[in-house]
Amino acid sequence: MTYQPPGTLYVVATPIGNLEDLTPRAARILESVSRIAAEDTRHSARLLNHLGINKPLLSLHEHNEAHRVEALDAYLEAGESIALVSDAGTPLISDPGFILVRALRLRNRHVVPVPGACALTAALSAAGLPTDRFTFAGFLPAKAGARRQTLESYLKREETLVFYESPHRILATLEALEEQMPARPVVLARELTKTFETFLQGTPAELLATLAEDPNQARGEFVVMIGGASITGASSEQAVDDETLLKTLLDEGVGVKQGAAIAAKLLGGRKKAWYERLLLMKSEAQIKP
Ligand code: SAM
Repeated sequence: MTYQPPGTLYVVATPIGNLEDLTPRAARILESVSRIAAEDTRHSARLLNHLGINKPLLSLHEHNEAHRVEALDAYLEAGESIALVSDAGTPLISDPGFILVRALRLRNRHVVPVPGACALTAALSAAGLPTDRFTFAGFLPAKAGARRQTLESYLKREETLVFYESPHRILATLEALEEQMPARPVVLARELTKTFETFLQGTPAELLATLAEDPNQARGEFVVMIGGASITGASSEQAVDDETLLKTLLDEGVGVKQGAAIAAKLLGGRKKAWYERLLLMKSEAQIKP
């Protein structure tokens, strides 16, 4: 066991569904610290009750994090050790904690990770998509236009793309993927470590059909993983070629409907998705000065 001096902040991962995923080290640290900073104190109190741990809790969430820095730093200065937890998984991974950890590092405080569950790594570890390189994009923007733009910026990337998604946007996200990345393999990791954990895989269109058939599959928490441009049969050059073909079709005056049929035949994927992509390109071309 490595020695940690007094006045340490421990960044402690907690389970993302299955309580057995709390590590013995995490339990020992939570038991040993003077106080626990939690994203939602009521939520974490349930976990701590389950562990039989009773410690002073203070809230640390996106709206008060900056204001908490001084108070927490003062506790550390006084030699107290503190644990930081979020509602589930690893703090700072699409969760609060960055402002605090950055401030404490700048002040040369001891900040120690206590690793454990994280939906991102759990999902990737069992999805069967390449993991040698990946981009984690957090949550996609909620608004359709911004979401489309974000996906557009990843179109030619060859590594696996991963993001978090909430149940009320999963259909809209799959529709956006069908439009912009119709031929990509997508894996949805749902309700990881919980009773109804499911991995669904297919093209965006296939996944939409699965979710339409069984709406229960659209419930719960999701990690969305998308194969990079290199494993769709579409290399990055191919992605460029797709654009060139679509642009040529429009430049030659081929109608959107006919263009979509040609693209589906030559490049694969669904006519509807090519139709929407061509429509979008056409309207964008009209907007340009
Ligand atoms: N810090 C957490 C972690 O380490 O994974 C992530 C927190 S983020 C606010 C919550 C998102 O993580 C959810 O909307 C979902 O996308 C993903 N997530 C968390 N738990 C999950 C689970 N059990 N199964 C699938 N996705 C999960």
